[in-house]
Amino acid sequence: SNVTGKIPATLIPGDGIGPEITAATTHVLDKLGAPFAWDVQQAGMAGLKAEGAPVPDSTMASIKRTGLALKGPLTTPSGGGFRSVNVTLRQAFDLYANVRPARTLVPGRYEEVDIVLIRENVEGFYAAREYFLPQGGGDGAHGAAEAEGMAVTAGYVTRAECRRIVRHAFEYALAHGRKKVTLVHKANILKLMGKVFLEEGHKVAADYAGRVACDERIVDACAMQLCLDPSQFDVIVTTNLFGDILSDQISGLIGGLGMAPGANIGEKQAIFEAVHGSAPDLAGRGVANPVALMLAAGLMLDHVGEHARANSLRQALDSTLKAGVKTPDLGGTATTEAFAKAVAERL
Ligand code: NAD
Repeated sequence: SNVTGKIPATLIPGDGIGPEITAATTHVLDKLGAPFAWDVQQAGMAGLKAEGAPVPDSTMASIKRTGLALKGPLTTPSGGGFRSVNVTLRQAFDLYANVRPARTLVPGRYEEVDIVLIRENVEGFYAAREYFLPQGGGDGAHGAAEAEGMAVTAGYVTRAECRRIVRHAFEYALAHGRKKVTLVHKANILKLMGKVFLEEGHKVAADYAGRVACDERIVDACAMQLCLDPSQFDVIVTTNLFGDILSDQISGLIGGLGMAPGANIGEKQAIFEAVHGSAPDLAGRGVANPVALMLAAGLMLDHVGEHARANSLRQALDSTLKAGVKTPDLGGTATTEAFAKAVAERL
């Protein structure tokens, strides 16, 4: 922390509904007395507008310096050949673990979901080399389209990264009193990727034998079992693309994307965000659900050791929702701002 006793942190309001849910979240953090000294920076469309780049140098420098960021959703500008802004940030700071806890706050379809999905964040198909190959055997009549006849996407995992992400999952389980880690894979079809992930995963699991249990699932069966009986899952660890898909599925079990926070953790930096995107359909209407970003702020408080404030925030969210104050995605009528005020009143 700096001379004021505050912790320097980067704040990226983001695109679409980002500025609205960020304002709601900082309102609640201020009321909590959260110790962050914000350095406000732009990225995504807002970065392009303000600084001429979707990932401005000043934003990168800020995150590098503070090591800590709270980030609204970002829209990658289309056209112009820009790479995904989020993937760029994850790669640049080697944010290898994407930790996505999902817990039922509003009972609906499922009463007591409590699952933490840990997604490998820097390899897999998100680091894929993609290219076209011409498809042979044509009569030449289709010209350019035939030159792009075959789309190749070559993703990869390394043994070192599989060890690092599975170890992160087991350390998380130990630190949070969790009982089991499930390795999720597709080793029956993606045989080499699956082999490396499972071999390294089980080696790491052996170090935790007797303390944290380990089992494994094929990803398609896992998706089905999550719908049938989510209570059989505790911590799930999986490769990048499967983690992307399963974490959205799990957010559906707890009331949708508006409820799901995520932490992107590296050795030196960490970026906290909502799992959802910039929701252009809702932007500027004041009705977006800020719970996911508020829960992300809770994870950020935990990350800096502010567990008491993190717990107060979660309790206030719980009681606000229990009192029936909800945004329209949860069937309520509250605006983003009214919801934030209701949470702040309970702190
Ligand atoms: P999205 O998550 O923005 O929206 C999907 C659906 O969920 C929409 O109907 C939306 O209204 C709803 N929704 C999302 N967040 C909500 C909230 N807080 N409250 C209420 N409803 C909410 O996904 P999309 O439409 O596929 O993507 C839109 C843009 O966001 C794209 O440019 C995409 O690349 C980007 N994106 C960014 C991130 C990120 O920054 N981490 C993640 C995913 C998508």
